[in-house]
Amino acid sequence: MKCPYCQSAETKVIDKRDLSEEASTRRRRECLKCGKRFTTYEKVERIDLKVVKKDGRVEDYVREKLKAGLVKAVEKRPVTEEQIEEVIDDIEQRILKRQSKQISASDIGQMVLTRLKKIDRVAYLRFASVFLEFESLKDFAKQIKDFSK
Ligand SMILES: [Zn+2]
Repeated sequence: MKCPYCQSAETKVIDKRDLSEEASTRRRRECLKCGKRFTTYEKVERIDLKVVKKDGRVEDYVREKLKAGLVKAVEKRPVTEEQIEEVIDDIEQRILKRQSKQISASDIGQMVLTRLKKIDRVAYLRFASVFLEFESLKDFAKQIKDFSK
């Protein structure tokens, strides 16, 4: 990100805001060379991907939706927004490497779970119960049992 005033590449982010309605992130930056401040907007890149839900419905993949699920799962847990973004970036890259334009919701869920498990186990269980739509306590117990593996 170059400074629009002096073209220096040395800038720092002083404020960041997600504008979810516009699918963009607003960053307030300061140039470390000339000290001027400017704002950048980073558009969320739309991934051309369809998600097949458990009931067979097909929806467009929406990063913000996935993120919302993660944010909910890590509520009051020691997990930073950066960690969440990293998890999603990692998953999106994995998905993009596939040739298929479709992925099942449970595949995405599993990818999240694999990563969340290493970060925070409470968040992991919360996400598992919501995203995988546990139908019974048995499912839940099975997830907890999987921890010992
Ligand atoms: Zn500058």
